[in-house]
Amino acid sequence: MELKREITNLPELVNKLKKKDKELFNRFYSVKLSVGRLKVTPEMETFVKSKFKSIKKTENQKIVCINNKLTWEGNLFNELRSMRPKPKVKFKLSELDNKENCLFCNIEKQTPLDIFGRIKGKHCITASNIAKCDKFHGLIIFNEHNPLKLKKAWLKDYFETAEKWFDRTDNSNKKMINNFLIWNCLWRSSASIIHGHMQITASETKYQKIIRLEEIYDKYKKKYKSDYFLDLFKIHKNLGLGEKIGKSMVLYYLTPIKEKEIVVLSKEKRFPEISDLIYNLIKNYFRIGVQSFNVSLTKIKEYWMLRLVDRGSLENRNSDIGVMELYANSVVAYDPFRLVKEIKL
Ligand SMILES: [Zn+2]
Repeated sequence: MELKREITNLPELVNKLKKKDKELFNRFYSVKLSVGRLKVTPEMETFVKSKFKSIKKTENQKIVCINNKLTWEGNLFNELRSMRPKPKVKFKLSELDNKENCLFCNIEKQTPLDIFGRIKGKHCITASNIAKCDKFHGLIIFNEHNPLKLKKAWLKDYFETAEKWFDRTDNSNKKMINNFLIWNCLWRSSASIIHGHMQITASETKYQKIIRLEEIYDKYKKKYKSDYFLDLFKIHKNLGLGEKIGKSMVLYYLTPIKEKEIVVLSKEKRFPEISDLIYNLIKNYFRIGVQSFNVSLTKIKEYWMLRLVDRGSLENRNSDIGVMELYANSVVAYDPFRLVKEIKL
């Protein structure tokens, strides 16, 4: 019988790889499969069946722990986590079209501008962030209010406008070594304003998580005479979790920070050149029910690195991130082997 491609079978899937590929996987990752057991009371049976589908699966929960030994990223996968009952708030998607009192629908009057002024795209305009995270902190404010409405040409324009903004900050201060693009879409992802927008920061100091990754990349090159990102992609590809699209590598990540994380590593010269790929990924996200997400985009060594993660239903009242994600291992329900099947590029 063919081995099912799912995260609980990861140890066996790795075992089936060629010796060299197995060694490469083991250089990066440690995997531990365990079973968490419990006993369901007779009074709980109906509830357990309706929520978790199977009493047997609930009484014997397969948990996969995956740790990246080089980056210290770590996960605990258990699909049952997504089936837990959650506190909900009532919400209708049509509320996202309500423009009443929207500051970003009145950009020129209600948002500050950067010291070098505003940059106008065809489908967006820049503003300065009123409460800054960093030396330069701007906004790409979309002409479209509803953040879940997106077109290919619009996204390309947002990125091209962001690129112009980075150039402008660089012209006014040559020491800008840190360019970082942030897209928090809706409140689950920490966006404080509904109207569609991205954020862009530029400063003299790189962020710690970027520095750390660059150090890992350098150390890896020195020790193994190989490219960390290429090898990371190779591991994902060997398991059916990596896809090459043009000059970009798409990874259905083995150690996602949270649900459905996808990492793109691209050697395109300019980041707006990967906007069609990003558009396709986000459209796929929408198709599989994602409503709120985070996107980060920055340059690490020779690569543009984009990370995309689902932040859960807009009806959820509880945060998707707790002590485990902040201080331990990320707890994730969505299987990357399922994700790769769902996303059609
Ligand atoms: Zn608006």
